[in-house]
Amino acid sequence: MTASRPSRTRLVVLHSFRIVVFATVLLLIHRQAEDRIARRTEESQPPVEWDVLQSIYPEATRLGSATEEGGIGVFDSAGRRLGYYLQTAPAGDRFVGFSGPTNVLVAFDANDQILSLRILSSRDTKEHVRQVIEDERFLPSFSGLSRADAIENRRVDAVSGATLTSHAIQEAVAFRLGGTIRSLRFPDPLALIEVQSLFPAAEAIEQIEDVPSRWNVLGANREELGQVLRTAPAADNLVGYQGPSETLIGVGTDDQISGLILRGSFDNEPYVTYVREDSYFLNRFNGLSLAELGGLDLQAAEIEGVSGATMTSMSVARGIVLAARELSRSRSIEPQQHLRWSLHDMGTAAMIVAGCTIGFTSLRAVRLLKLGYQLLLVAYLGLMNGDMVSLAMMAGWAQYGIPWRSAGSLLLLSATALIVPITTRRNIYCTHLCPHGAVQQLLKNRIGRRLHMPRGLSKLLRSVPFLLLVWTLLVVMWPLPYSLVDIEPFDAWVFRVAGWATVGVAIVGLAASLFVPMAYCRYGCPTGAILSFLRLNAHSERWSPRDWAAVLLLLLAVVLG
Ligand code: SF4
Repeated sequence: MTASRPSRTRLVVLHSFRIVVFATVLLLIHRQAEDRIARRTEESQPPVEWDVLQSIYPEATRLGSATEEGGIGVFDSAGRRLGYYLQTAPAGDRFVGFSGPTNVLVAFDANDQILSLRILSSRDTKEHVRQVIEDERFLPSFSGLSRADAIENRRVDAVSGATLTSHAIQEAVAFRLGGTIRSLRFPDPLALIEVQSLFPAAEAIEQIEDVPSRWNVLGANREELGQVLRTAPAADNLVGYQGPSETLIGVGTDDQISGLILRGSFDNEPYVTYVREDSYFLNRFNGLSLAELGGLDLQAAEIEGVSGATMTSMSVARGIVLAARELSRSRSIEPQQHLRWSLHDMGTAAMIVAGCTIGFTSLRAVRLLKLGYQLLLVAYLGLMNGDMVSLAMMAGWAQYGIPWRSAGSLLLLSATALIVPITTRRNIYCTHLCPHGAVQQLLKNRIGRRLHMPRGLSKLLRSVPFLLLVWTLLVVMWPLPYSLVDIEPFDAWVFRVAGWATVGVAIVGLAASLFVPMAYCRYGCPTGAILSFLRLNAHSERWSPRDWAAVLLLLLAVVLG
C-alpha cells in the first residue's frame, strides 16, 4: 500500500527537519569550537591592575594607547612618558613550563631598558611558579637589560628546581620582544659522537645555516652521509609524564629516515630508559621521508608507544612529527595531500561492501552466512582493526574538522553509517557493521535466559542515550574536561589502550544483553540513538518523543553556543 499524498509530504518535511536538526547541532558545535580557538589566540591582553603598575612606576597617573613597541605607554601627571609595558600572553603562551604557560608583565623605562618583570598569572605548576617568584635572582636579573639582551637571554640563569618554568618564562619574554625561537631546554650543540650512533662512519657535522635544527653529516672524505634533525626547539612544549624530550632524527641521502635517538629528556626515569632501549619503537619510523613523517597521523598509523612508558614514548613520537612538520613548513614542503589507503583501510572497506551486500539482499536470510559474517565482523573489524563509529569521534570531528587525509576507512564507515539510514530504511551500520552490535546479536537467544523488562523501567532506561547526548553537548560546548570515549564501549575493543570506564561500559552492556536481548543497543547507545533518529522508517511522518528530544538538544546547543 502506498502512502497518501499528505502523509508523504509530512514524511518528507519531518525527515528533512530531523536531518537539519542534526546538521545544525554539528554546525553549532563546530562554530563554537572555532570561536573558542580564535578567542584563545586573538584574545587581547588581560588588563593589568593599577596597583601592580604603580609599584613599578610610582609616579604613574595614566596610561596611553598602544606604543610603537607593541606595549602600553605609562605617563605621569605632567604628561611625561615614564616607559611602557607589555605582557607575554597570548603570543608567549606557546612556551609551556612543567604544565602550562606563564603570563609575565615586562615593564620598560623611557630608555627602553627593562625596569621589572612581574608574573601576572600562570597555568604552570603552583610550586614551580612560587619557586620562580621567590628566587632572589631570576626575575630581578632581567632589570636593566635592553631588548637585545633579553632576547639573547644574557645574564639570566634558570631557577634550580624550577628549570622548565623559568626557561619557559625566558623564552616567552624573548619571543614577545621579537626574538626567534631557540631551545633553552636543550641548549647543548650537537656533538659528533652523538651523531655517530646514527651514522657510524661520520667524521664531521655541519649545522645548516638557514635551518639551525638540521645538521649535515659528513664522512672521512667530506662525502655526504645524510642529515640529522633535532626535535628541539619545535617539540620543547610536548610534555610526556613530567617534561619534554629531545630526539635526533637520522635522515639518509635517499631522504628517508634511518633511525632515531632519544637525546635528552626532562621526563621521569625509568620511562626514558625504556624508550631508549626499545629499538622496535625507535625503528618504526624508518623508511619514511621527512614530508611523510610530517604528515603522519600517529593514531591512524597505529603507533602505540612503548609499553610501560606510553606517555614518554608518545611525546617522543609527537615530537618527531612536529619537528618534521615545522621543517616542511619552513621549507615549503607540503606533506602528502592525497588520501593514503593502507591495508587496514582496504580491509574495512571490504567489510563495508560485504555488510551492505548481505544487508540489502536476500543473503541476510542465509543463517550460516550471517553467522560467519558476524564472527568475521567481531574478529576483524572489532578486534583487529578497531574501526567503529562513536559519539566521541563524531564530536571530535564536529569540533576540529574531519581528518580527510588520514582516516580513510573511518570516514567511509561513518559515511555509510549516516547516509544509508537517511536515504534508505536500513540502519546498515547497526545491523551489519558494528562489532559491538554483532556480539549482542550472537548472544541473543543463545546464552542465558530472557528477563521480562517492566514497561515503566524500559521507558525510563530508553532515556539513557538522550541523557548521554545532553552530557556530550555539555562536555564539548561548555567545555568540560572529560573524555567522551568513557561513555561508550567502543574503545574497549582496542584493549591495549582502553581505560577502565570504557571497559566497564562494555562489560556491563554485554552482561545485560545475556538477559535482555540487545540491551546495550536498546538502552545505552547514544551513537545508535542518533542513527535510528535519522533513519527513514514507516513512522517517519509522525512526530515522536525523539523529535522532542532532538529539539531540546538543539535548544541546548543554541544556548551553549
Ligand atoms: S546501537 Fe550502538 S552498539 Fe548497537 S549496533 Fe548500533 S552503534 Fe553498535
